[in-house]
Amino acid sequence: MRKLTILCLFLFFVIHCSKAPDNGNYPDLILFDGKIITVDESFSTAEAVAIKGDRFVAVGSNDEIQKMAGGYTKEIDLNGKTVIPGLIEAHAHPEGASVSELFEEIPDVHSVGELLDWIESQAGKKKQGEWIIHPKLFPTRLKEMRQPTLAELNKVAPNNPVFLNGSYGGMINSAAMRISDIARETKNPGILKDEATGELTGFIQASAFRLLKGRPSREISYEERLDALENMIKRYNSVGITGFWSGAGGPNNLKIYQDLKNSGRLTARVFQNMRLSVDIRAPINEIREKLLNYGYHTGFGDEWIRIGALKFSMDGGILTGTAYLREPWGNKAEEIFGITDPAYRGVLKITKEELIPVVTVANEIGWKFTAHCTGGGGVDIMLAAYEEVNKIRPVNDRRFSIIHGNFFTPEAIAKMKKLNVYADAQPAWFYKDADAMKYVLGDRRIKAFHPYKSLFDSGVIVNGGSDHMVKFDSYESINPYNPFLAMWAIITRKTERGTVIVPEEAITREQALKMYTINNALGSFEENIKGSIEPGKLADLVVISEDYLNCPVDNIKDINAEMTMVGGKIVYKSGTF
Ligand SMILES: [Zn+2]
Repeated sequence: MRKLTILCLFLFFVIHCSKAPDNGNYPDLILFDGKIITVDESFSTAEAVAIKGDRFVAVGSNDEIQKMAGGYTKEIDLNGKTVIPGLIEAHAHPEGASVSELFEEIPDVHSVGELLDWIESQAGKKKQGEWIIHPKLFPTRLKEMRQPTLAELNKVAPNNPVFLNGSYGGMINSAAMRISDIARETKNPGILKDEATGELTGFIQASAFRLLKGRPSREISYEERLDALENMIKRYNSVGITGFWSGAGGPNNLKIYQDLKNSGRLTARVFQNMRLSVDIRAPINEIREKLLNYGYHTGFGDEWIRIGALKFSMDGGILTGTAYLREPWGNKAEEIFGITDPAYRGVLKITKEELIPVVTVANEIGWKFTAHCTGGGGVDIMLAAYEEVNKIRPVNDRRFSIIHGNFFTPEAIAKMKKLNVYADAQPAWFYKDADAMKYVLGDRRIKAFHPYKSLFDSGVIVNGGSDHMVKFDSYESINPYNPFLAMWAIITRKTERGTVIVPEEAITREQALKMYTINNALGSFEENIKGSIEPGKLADLVVISEDYLNCPVDNIKDINAEMTMVGGKIVYKSGTF
């Protein structure tokens, strides 16, 4: 009897846990009566698509595709809905973002008033002496484009330390100074003082963050991280994202994605950029040896987890006045960032000469090279280094890129085209920050800020991503990772503040969609398996709520994903579909 039970269990297991029943040559699934925007070479549309296993097998008219059905083929009536290829996000940090609101929600604040209200309400809820921390506050994104003053902070939180963390700089109140023993006499260049009176202003730079005492830290277990990351990727699926490039990481990232995959919980494809962990100023032989010791390079892996680019950081950021520009930041920078040196151009971490050896080795052993590079001065230096390396061995087939970039002149764009360097862009920075940049840098310099049309016209491949770092919501995150909001912003050139900035750099709907599909497939060397709905490619697609190519343009930002499919499996479905 016991033997029989075991045998039955075994048979049950074999029958139910093996693959779907063999369907011969028939497709497993057909989606019909839709408007399928294939993003193929001629940007054609189709009515129906057939899927077998994890691949598309045919795309065409209802008649052509539906007559392929047989055996166990399932059919889904799209009822005229629009379908696009699965969206690929070219720059995100889901590992950190996934735990950013695990214990406490981070408020969506859009003005100094909203920020002060939130701090006051937190002070009402927390015990005296308990920290009130905003983990990612960029003052240029507040309506007034400024930090609250020390007096304003002290008024709403007299007895609780407050820390507004803006990554490269921040703001604290008097209670935070008391708790951390920070006073006029404290010797730390990161503590900013009023030039005339010597009084503390509350402004601090990143080098002084470590002085802040008693900030709470929560231990997060590995299991909690796994769960959180799985949930974050599901949020990505819910806005149509089927794959993403993880901005930067190390072996730990590979492990966590591998563990998710092995337990069947990875619902989007990962291209993992690897942070350069080699001393860039070491002799070239040492750099070569260390990079070879990694044991892998760009492209290793499979269609779920693949090794991305080798990533380095060139400069600071545009929201803290530390991006390395082509010219001095100028007199408006004092008002916003407290910069007083008239010759200051930003923070540059490396010279062209120092960059050449590592790029040479990367090019030689099969790495795609990329760098965080937010200012135009940095862009020019990177391109000059790429140009030198190109003389040793052509770089064109490596698809090197520049992350952020932000400011591309016609000269820079021409060089990028010549060397096949991709622009790894984040329209969220345009949407959120173009007004502040225009105010600080003026009408002339803003012309080179996110010049999408110029990049497309010259034939440079532009990748679309968000730089999502903190918070969960697709519209309210820092930065918002909703791809439809991003596409709308660069089609209309409209910003969060409602202005239209350099409209002559607007691109078409087709070009915006390419930035999140085929261009990102090209960026990860996967154009043969991803980025469009064509026979033989992975069955990654999204059913969306609007006719993307024909709806009123302002509807684009509110488009919802109604069903997201990765490798022929539904990973997200809304109630409406
Ligand atoms: Zn980033």
